[in-house]
Amino acid sequence: MSNDEGLAALGHDSGIVVIVACMDRRLVEILKLFRDRETPLKVRQERLRSLFNRETEDYKALSGLLAETTPERTLVLTNAGANVKGLSKTLGEIRGISRLVVMTHNDCGGMKVVANGLSSGATEESDELFRHLGGSRYKSAAGNSRDIEEIKERVEMLNPGVQREAARSFCTKVAIVQVDVRGLRQEPEGNEHWLLVAPVGQYPHAFDGTPRWQTYGIVGNKEDEVVDRKIAATLGISRIVDRGPRKISR
Ligand SMILES: [Zn+2]
Repeated sequence: MSNDEGLAALGHDSGIVVIVACMDRRLVEILKLFRDRETPLKVRQERLRSLFNRETEDYKALSGLLAETTPERTLVLTNAGANVKGLSKTLGEIRGISRLVVMTHNDCGGMKVVANGLSSGATEESDELFRHLGGSRYKSAAGNSRDIEEIKERVEMLNPGVQREAARSFCTKVAIVQVDVRGLRQEPEGNEHWLLVAPVGQYPHAFDGTPRWQTYGIVGNKEDEVVDRKIAATLGISRIVDRGPRKISR
């Protein structure tokens, strides 16, 4: 399978749906369904249903989104925090985006990096991560609080709006999906978390051979991924699987 298989198949026409999601391992099984060309919609919706404990609002929203999109014309990009600005180079290379879906979630490691920066004062490295995640926009969220959990919750509430605004510079039709990951039925996981780094178009095949529920995924152009790798490192993910060149070829 070539690295640009996904993009080549799209043909760079209009009508491409791009999903920008957080790299979080708990979203991976959901995102795979949007790129699965072999499985009929009804079966993909059933699989989505089995990922949730019950028919939650999230399930209904995602099931509807599955019905409105076709795997052949959908691209999945991922980084820390579903940070649209951080994927600028990648998004700039994709022509004909008709809809941009931003998928954020609660209990987000990327937002924790922002919260840490707000609560403890920035070091050079945390400042870089913070700026990458649109840091200045979040400053007011912290207020006078120094409680990381409290700040993180505020930052998570603010993030969809920040991403919506950023997404509008790439597409006029923007949808935000906030997934409550605590509503997901997760299989038991091992202690070790993996990080997959892969080119655009390789969802879901790039995940073959990596442990389910344990693998975070960064998918985008190489120029866009540097800071996200650092964020993954701050989250303690040390085992990295790199699926090769990330230059989008036409
Ligand atoms: Zn996240």
